[in-house]
This record gives sequence, C-alpha cells and structure tokens, in this order.
Amino acid sequence: VIEVQHLSKSFGNHEVLRDIDFSVNKGEVICIIGSSGSGKSTLLRCINLLEKPSGGQIIYRGENILDEKHDIHAYRKKLGMVFQQFNLFNNHNALNNCMVGQVKVLKRSKEDAEKIALKYLKVVGMDHYVNAKPKQLSGGQKQRVAIARALSMEPDVMLFDEPTSALDPEMVGEVLKVMKELASTGLTMLIVTHEMEFAKEVADRVVFMDKGVIAEEGPPEQIFNNPREERTKTFLKRTL
Ligand code: ATP
Ligand code: MG
Repeated sequence: VIEVQHLSKSFGNHEVLRDIDFSVNKGEVICIIGSSGSGKSTLLRCINLLEKPSGGQIIYRGENILDEKHDIHAYRKKLGMVFQQFNLFNNHNALNNCMVGQVKVLKRSKEDAEKIALKYLKVVGMDHYVNAKPKQLSGGQKQRVAIARALSMEPDVMLFDEPTSALDPEMVGEVLKVMKELASTGLTMLIVTHEMEFAKEVADRVVFMDKGVIAEEGPPEQIFNNPREERTKTFLKRTL
C-alpha cells in the first residue's frame, strides 16, 4: 500500500531519520519498536505528512506523494491516525467525534456519517456511550472512541503511535484487545508500541528502530527469539 524509499528527516542539523526503506503491504500488521528518541513517532508523522520529510520518497498507489504536484489531501484521507493523547474534541460527544471528519472532510451526509460512526463505535465496544463527552470517559474508553473515529474515515492504513502509553495499566488491556480484533479483520495497521507481548502475538512483521535507522526487521519469531543484530539483542535485554 505504501512504500517508503530513502526517507530522511532532519530538525535543523539533527538528523532524526536516515535512509529509511520500508513498505507496508495490504492487510499487514506491522509493529515498530525501539528506544525513546529512535525516531518511531517521526517516521509515522512523516508517513502521514504531519512532518515534511527532508528527503526520499513515499510511494502510494504508484505515485510519489512527496512530488510537488501530488494531491496530499487525497492521500491523507486514506490514513487513519491514533495518538497517545487521544486528541478527541472535548466539546463533542463520542458520536460527534466520529462524525465531524466524515462530514467535513469526506463530505458524507449527516445520516450516512451517523450510521458509519455507530458501526465503528460498536466495533470498539463504545456504542453504549454515544452521548458521553470525553471528560465522562476513562482513558481506555477515550482511546477506543479515538480508534472508532479513525475507522469511521474508512482509511486504507491505520497508524497508531503508542496508543496505550498514556493509559493507566488496568485500561491497557481493553485497548489492546480492540486492536487485536481489528488486526484479525485484515485491516492494514502500523503500530508504534512498547507492548512487546502484543507485538509478538499480533504483528506479521516487527521493525526495530535504533538512532534513526531500521536496525532490523522480520517476523516476530526472528526479532524476539532469534535477533540477528547485536543492537536488537541489547534493546530487548533492556526492555524485558
Ligand atoms: P519515544 O519512544 O520517546 O516516543 P520516538 O522513537 O518516537 O521516541 P521521536 O519522537 O521520533 O522518537 O524523536 C526522535 C528524535 O527527534 C528525538 O531526538 C527528538 O528530540 C527529535 N524531535 C522530534 N520531533 C522534533 C521536533 N519537532 N523538533 C526538533 N526535534 C524533534
Ligand atoms: Mg514517540
């Protein structure tokens, strides 16, 4: 679906991503792991163009979307993003949170948007909370609404940046459970996570980032049980 080629990103003279080559295939669940500061969030943010890459290409449907003439709005509509801090609209209830983007960006009718929003609120188990405002919800519930909101846009790829890192421990499980269910439906997912057990169980492929490069990638059995790179071994030893 997406192919990243020779992607680089610098902030000033600080090179945060260096020569990243990496592809996302349809239906694949990819977990990105790595130490704090290794560039995981920056990679996701470059992929959905929240940050402007300094170099390289992002190929989507055969076209380099970093080309000046490319319609980046059309591309961005096809990506769903879930943040650590939910980023819900606090003055809107759960249902409206899932409708606003559909109506404003996709120009769906209110009726269609509501139907689709309800469908995805049900998928994440939040269909009994349609009228609740974010402040009435727990962290886990807010994150499930945020996932439903992203799904309501019916994207080609869902990007998650540490979706459980801001949650109290007792709420991590409910969010991971929803993500596991989504993974089993064939949704294409790119997930930055520190949840190694989750990655081991759910990922088709694990990408280990270290200091702005992809140090190793492979199936979870390779990365977790039989890492080839010394850096991967050191990282895993520190996190386990
Ligand atoms: P974490 O696990 O802590 O979320 P990460 O792997 O997501 O870390 P990034 O947030 O991508 O790491 O950051 C990579 C590097 O880029 C860090 O050194 C960070 O300080 C730097 N960086 C990120 N965003 C900016 C920015 N907007 N301006 C300047 N430097 C930045
Ligand atoms: Mg990050």
